[in-house]
Amino acid sequence: MKTLLNTTLTVEDICQGFVYNEYEGKGLFGLSGKLTIQPEYQRNYIYADGKKDVAVIDSLLKGYPLGLIYFTKVAEDKFEVLDGQQRITSFGRFITGKFAIKGSNGIPQYFSGLAEDLKEKILKSPLTIYECEGTESEIKEWFKTINIVGVPLNEQELSNAIHSGPFVTLAKEEFSNSQNANIQKWSAYVSGSAIRQDYLKTALEWVSKGNIDAYMSKHRYDDNINELKAYFNSVIDWISSVFTDVESEMKGLPWGELYEKYHKNAYNPQTVSSKLKELYSDFSVKDRKGVYEYILGGYVDTKLLNIRIFDDRVKKVVYTKQSEEAKEKGVSNCPLCALGNDNNKSRIYKITEMDADHVTAWSNGGSTDIENCQMLCKTHNRAKGNK
Ligand SMILES: [Zn+2]
Repeated sequence: MKTLLNTTLTVEDICQGFVYNEYEGKGLFGLSGKLTIQPEYQRNYIYADGKKDVAVIDSLLKGYPLGLIYFTKVAEDKFEVLDGQQRITSFGRFITGKFAIKGSNGIPQYFSGLAEDLKEKILKSPLTIYECEGTESEIKEWFKTINIVGVPLNEQELSNAIHSGPFVTLAKEEFSNSQNANIQKWSAYVSGSAIRQDYLKTALEWVSKGNIDAYMSKHRYDDNINELKAYFNSVIDWISSVFTDVESEMKGLPWGELYEKYHKNAYNPQTVSSKLKELYSDFSVKDRKGVYEYILGGYVDTKLLNIRIFDDRVKKVVYTKQSEEAKEKGVSNCPLCALGNDNNKSRIYKITEMDADHVTAWSNGGSTDIENCQMLCKTHNRAKGNK
């Protein structure tokens, strides 16, 4: 790969013909049409938070360098921004009046309202640009390894870069577009942000059963995302038809896996709903996220619920009572050992050698209170837990 250092361009040069697309949230072109600011493999503009974008302008006003910017040369006199898109879009948006900075008196100041010398200072700021020439895979490999100033690319943004093409473009249009009205509905079950590719990542994870890169590579040149969309919608529809309630714990569950495992079973949404409410109001249930698979699996695997254990005070009281009674009778203080015929029949365990157990299991209606607590030796408690 060839690289050429170019220090002759200024902010003003780059901003010639600057186009920002508010709808897509992308800086599109600059440098009199010779520069594509947001190639397909770039993420959306995420500096528009009134902090990072303002910081870019502050840096220019103070004469601080903006850091290295990388262009790739795609044709004679045609460039794409490889790294620096966020910074370029920030000053481009400022100069075209898209946002204001805070003036010395605290009043918002747009570019057009700045004193002439300050305008000049920004426009004449020199940039340090590396122009790179190489094959697509060379450039993308490099893009993957350079340290992006500010917010590092996340995993999905990297995958988008590596597998850029028509499939990624279409997939981003559907899943990374905060204007998509469906996002609201999806956000009940999917966590993260559309703009940082979390919805796309989830959709890909579900359809590929976790093999995102393999899937993206296979479909890279597809001109449609039918399968991705259909699968995602099937999962979403399935969740909302089984669970008619929307609870905050549903967000970010591994719904793709749950769908694969359980979607062939029939559920009565009314039963599910009342069971859900019951479990949510049960003090013993510590893990509400586990409630969903517990229900889907037919109310069997109580481990999913992380049933509340007895606290130390209760354990101590029960231990003392059990031990005193056992000593009187000359048997073990583990009631199950006491029933046996081996050496442990009359063994008195220390409290540290025992665990608390629900006499009546939680799944059979037993509660987590002192009346339903017994201390067992660790061996017996484990054996009981495995039943
Ligand atoms: Zn025992």
